[in-house]
Parts: sequence; C-alpha cells; structure tokens
Amino acid sequence: MKKIGIIGGGFTGTMTAVHLIERSAACEITIFNEAATFTRGTAYTPYSDKHLLNVITSKMSAYPGNPDHFLDWVMERPDFKDLDRKLIANAFMPRAIYGKYLTEVWDSALENADGKCIVNVVDQQVTDLDVNNSFITLKLDNGDSMMFDYCVIASGNNAPRNPRIKSPGFYNSPNYFQNPWKEESVLNLTQKPVLIVGNGLTMVDTVISLTEQGFKGEIHSISPNGFNILPHRHIGMKYSKLAEEIKEGMTLLEIVSLANKHIKIAREYGVSAEPVIDSFRPYTQKIWHNFSDREKTTFMSRLRHLWGTARHRIPMHSYEKLQKLQAEGRLHIHSGNLIDINENSNGIEVEYRDRNDGVTKMMTVGRIINCTGPESDFSKLESGLLKNCVDNNILKQDALKLGIVTDIHTYGIIGPDGNAYQNLFTIGGNLRGELWETTAVHDLREQAEKLSQSLASKIMAESAELIS
Ligand SMILES: Cc1cc2nc3c(=O)[nH]c(=O)nc-3n(C[C@H](O)[C@H](O)[C@H](O)COP(=O)(O)OP(=O)(O)OC[C@H]3O[C@@H](n4cnc5c(N)ncnc54)[C@H](O)[C@@H]3O)c2cc1C
Repeated sequence: MKKIGIIGGGFTGTMTAVHLIERSAACEITIFNEAATFTRGTAYTPYSDKHLLNVITSKMSAYPGNPDHFLDWVMERPDFKDLDRKLIANAFMPRAIYGKYLTEVWDSALENADGKCIVNVVDQQVTDLDVNNSFITLKLDNGDSMMFDYCVIASGNNAPRNPRIKSPGFYNSPNYFQNPWKEESVLNLTQKPVLIVGNGLTMVDTVISLTEQGFKGEIHSISPNGFNILPHRHIGMKYSKLAEEIKEGMTLLEIVSLANKHIKIAREYGVSAEPVIDSFRPYTQKIWHNFSDREKTTFMSRLRHLWGTARHRIPMHSYEKLQKLQAEGRLHIHSGNLIDINENSNGIEVEYRDRNDGVTKMMTVGRIINCTGPESDFSKLESGLLKNCVDNNILKQDALKLGIVTDIHTYGIIGPDGNAYQNLFTIGGNLRGELWETTAVHDLREQAEKLSQSLASKIMAESAELIS
C-alpha cells in the first residue's frame, strides 16, 4: 500500500486528506500537525469568538463542487436554523465556527470511509526531509524518521519575521509578542500603550481583542504606508466591464491603468473601488504568473500594500469599532518605519521615522505585538523544515522569496536540477511566488481537490502496473 505523508493539517492538508479518503484511494495517509490545531490550522483556531472570517459564509465552502456546503452546515446548527438564510449567506461568521465546520468535515470523511484508506494523525513537527526518486524520509521533532512514497508540504502560515531594528536583542523581551495569533499577546495587560507593528487584518483582530480584554490605554499601529483598512461596502455587487478588457500578457503598467480607469468610473457613480478590484479575482493568478521578475519586484515595492488594503477588507461593524477608537483618540495609525527599540525602566522606547513629515520620533509603550503577516523568506526563519529544505538545496525559493518554486500544473516542487519531483508536492501559501493570490479558502479548496485527484490517479496506475 502506498504511503502519503502530509506535512501540516490546517485547511489545505486536511482537505487534501479528506478528498483522498472520499475517493477511496487505497493508501496510508499520515498527517503531521500539533493536536491543538489539527483540521483548523492557524486561521481557524482563534483565541476569541470576536475574530471573524473576512469572507462571507456563502463563499467559504470547503468543497469547490458544492459551493453552499458551509452555508448549509451553518443553517442546520441550532443557533442559526431560525435565522434568515440570506442574512447568514452574507454574514461574516466567527472563525471558531469555521474551525468546527472543518473538524466535522474531517470526522464525517472518516466515518464514511470504506476502509480502503488507512489514516494516521501524528502530533509532531516535521523538522527535515530527504527525497530521492523512490521515497521521501521525514525527520520528526522526537528524533524518529518515517518513509513515504509521496509527500505534500501544506505548511501554511509561518509566524511573522522580527522587523529589522538596530538593537534586535529587544526581541528577547517578555513584552514582545512575535506570534499575534496566540492569546498570550493580549493577556496580562497593563494600561501602558500598546504598539502593533503592521496594519492589516491581524491588527484589526488584535485591537478588537485588546478592547475585549478591557484594555483602556492607547493603541498605536505602525506600517510603512499607514493605509486605513477598508470595510466591505458592496457585498455581492459584480462589476463586469474591466474583465472584458483584460488581455493575455498585459504588463503591470497596463493593468494599473486599466484598474485606475474603471475605479474612476465607479467612483463617479458613488461606488467604491471594491467591485472593480474584486473583478480582477479570477485573473490575478494568471496575470501574476505572466509578469516578469522585474514587474513582480515593482509590484512588491510600490503596490503591494495598496493592493492588500484594497483586497483585504473587514466587516463594516469591525470597521466602525476601529473608527470609534480612532475618533476617541485611543487608536493611532502611523505611517512610518521602525529604527530602533529599547526597553528600560520607563517602558519600551520606540524610535521610528514618520513617513508623513520625514521626522524621527519616539514613542514609549508597554508591549509590542508583531502583526506584520506570515514570513515567506525561509532563510529568515530561525529553524524548521522549510529553512532546512532551502539550506540543503532540496527546494528553491522564487526570486522574490515569496514561496517554493513549483510546477503549478502538477504542484510538484521543482528540485535543484530544474525538474519537478514526481513524489514531493506543495500547495497553499507556498505557491505565492507562482500565483500571488493563494491564501484564501476559495483558492486552496481547488488546489486540495486537484492534488488529491492526481495522487489518487498515480496510486491507481501504480497498483494496476503491479497487478499486470
Ligand atoms: C488569522 C488568519 C485569518 C484568516 N482568515 C481567512 C478567512 O476569513 N477566509 C479565508 O478564505 N482565508 C483566511 N485566511 C487565509 C488562510 O491562510 C487560509 O484560509 C487557510 O487557513 C490556510 O490553510 P493552510 O492549511 O494552508 O495553512 P495553516 O492554517 O497555516 O495550516 C498549516 C498547518 O501546518 C502546520 N505545520 C506547518 N509546518 C509544519 C511542520 N513542519 N510539521 C508539522 N506541522 C506543520 C501548522 O502548525 C498549521 O497547523 C486567514 C489567515 C490567517 C492567518
């Protein structure tokens, strides 16, 4: 029986296994993930019920071929069954509920399994990997090694990188929280100001949780651009004119002027840029894939933050909470770059350059929470599987260090000889260098289904070969 190792049991790894089980693939699947987050991963194991999905219920099905699967599941639950289906379809559910959904999807796949597929879940980190044409060896945290015929790296979101400052020794402080997805980042607060580094969706969750914990002090956030995070304003509205003008092989400049033209039209009629930007969605992966490295670099340095703000919006009532805090003078959004951070008996002294006036300024806070987003440059990780794989030349990162160089048709990781491995695959956020937008459930569910389909076919073809 063929053995498949899946490294990571968040959405992507879990759904790959679910599809293999549901396809009755005759194989032994082993998923590696810590028990506390298995099936849910980082995103859907939130520490607060106030952390909401940033996508509406009707777009969060785990199954690409059954788009209402999550909505139907929610509507069958006692807490929701008497509510209006259209309301729930357009609502932003707590991420914890989505975590429960994924666990039920997993349990039901196991319950209905026909015994052809053996499943093991191992509560261990995979720390290293060795690959040859015949098998893959995984090394585990506890010192054990295990061998597989096929492996899928579904490692998802890494913790954020420590921002570059003059005195990195600060990062050993107990008042610094590198991982914003852990509850400890908002516990045991004093009323001294808090600095959040980063200005995206995790910043919003962190602000909401600080207030939930009764924090009454000032909250600062700092990011290079200090863009105000935007709410969803036109849910369900479809804009079709831009798509009609998208052509294969358009340059970055052409794409930007196309977007600007349509945003201007929308704004003339009182509509925000939201539906125009969303209408890019079906084309972004192809557009990105066709960009030259130079265009990708320009996008990353000049447009990434603007794009992120336009794409990653928050529910209106979360937005209103942030607006209220800003109006009360309790939340300050800075545009600037950190220079140095030092801690003394007064607190944490932060030196930064304000991008609005170019002046170097100081602020004193009681804690710093890093919300800069998952690190994608594996050489910058302190340790772990991906860093070891890069150091040992098993996989390569793209020029911009966004992910793993991969054949996007087979998801085979491209080895040092430039050829795709036939037995080592990756999907999810590790494809960011190839596809750029490969983070949301909407993208990952298709990848999980497609990869499991091709793994199941390989297993079947090999078994048929053995029999004949
Ligand atoms: C806070 C947050 C909120 C989000 N909200 C939404 C949303 O509302 N809607 C949406 O569509 N998308 C959202 N996303 C995007 C999200 O990344 C995807 O939806 C999805 O959860 C990614 O799943 P994943 O399995 O690829 O990664 P992850 O969820 O990160 O799971 C990867 C798992 O692999 C494990 N792992 C990693 N390396 C190893 C190793 N070496 N050995 C063993 N285990 C390992 C990790 O511990 C983790 O459990 C959100 C992301 C974040 C971070």
